[in-house]
Amino acid sequence: MKSDRPHPRRISRREFLTLATAGAAGLLAGCCPTLPKGGDLALVGGTLIDGTGADPVTDAAVVVQGGRVASVGPRAQVTVPAGVQAVDVQGATILPGFINAHVHGSYDEDTLKAWARGGVTTVRDMATGQPPKEAFAIRDSMRDNLQCTRLVAAGPMVTVPGGYPIARWGVDSITVTSPADARQKVNQLLDDGADFIKIPLESGAVFGYLMPMLSPEEAAAIVETAHARGAWVSAHVSVTQDLEKALDAGVDDIAHMVTDELPDALAARVVESGTYWVPTIELWKGVGYGLGAHVVDNLRRFIEAGGQVALGTDYAGAPDVDFDLGMPMDEIAWMQEAGMTARQIIVAATRHAARVCTLDQEIGTLEAGKVADILVVDGDPLEDIHALTKTRLVFREGVPV
Ligand SMILES: [Zn+2]
Repeated sequence: MKSDRPHPRRISRREFLTLATAGAAGLLAGCCPTLPKGGDLALVGGTLIDGTGADPVTDAAVVVQGGRVASVGPRAQVTVPAGVQAVDVQGATILPGFINAHVHGSYDEDTLKAWARGGVTTVRDMATGQPPKEAFAIRDSMRDNLQCTRLVAAGPMVTVPGGYPIARWGVDSITVTSPADARQKVNQLLDDGADFIKIPLESGAVFGYLMPMLSPEEAAAIVETAHARGAWVSAHVSVTQDLEKALDAGVDDIAHMVTDELPDALAARVVESGTYWVPTIELWKGVGYGLGAHVVDNLRRFIEAGGQVALGTDYAGAPDVDFDLGMPMDEIAWMQEAGMTARQIIVAATRHAARVCTLDQEIGTLEAGKVADILVVDGDPLEDIHALTKTRLVFREGVPV
């Protein structure tokens, strides 16, 4: 268990976020080479798990042309065009590139390369202390480097003066003082280049002291403004009383499992609303303080109620947790512990996580026309989930990583 490991060096979250972003500053100088789009190829003979939740297809073929999936299915039904290089992947499983829908500290080339090498071809960064324009310029400087994982970026959180995460971690955030101010600031953040909006609905109950938080009117104004621009809103919550406020505001996903016991009626309300849940069990089990006591049972209850889960860990979201960088096997193990099948976990890490990134038209499943973000692993992850760490090939937009 990670929580039992010694932590020889503890640093504050402010120091941590500064360190995590310091290395990224040099990227603005344009050090990332632009690679050509992928060469055409066909992966032939492996088992296909396409991320939709459909049955696996044995002896499959996936044809990649121009960085996209041209055709996919049983090998007997797929024509490999003349001149397209066939790559034999017998004994392996072909999956969509995985997506971690809750990370931090990823405005950084080395970190994004490490994600890609582990088969995680998209990450969603949930909050940075950097000014928005600076943060988005770093993201954009890495956009065409296909050795880097795709970065979906919130920039800073939108909160109230003295609220979370300022009150807890001292992380610079965008603060609003009225619904009108909230509308103006969210529009500005989206103009600056935010891919989505992250808000905290954090009363402080989990930390044992209260802090100011967005009013229902401010939270609703943020959601309305973002939705009018086609942008997703993700809400940090840590207890059920704040979860209700997130649902009242109409947010699109819940960025952590709640740490107190999740009542069945509330689980049902989340399911009914269609809100996705990104559990970050690795965080809660890692931070200790008993915060992980209910989270696995809560996830089980949500799954049994028919809830939609997207995989996310909160990588780099707490300085003293040794998060997985690469394939998030800790989070996956906790999902199994909560009763999720390997197939459900794969959907959570692909199709559902792509939806949460609002990129489900482009990535998350291997279907004709989709971007060719592909993970090939040895063995069968439906039989043994640890096969997910046996990376044979990773492609981002058809380019080998
Ligand atoms: Zn986080």
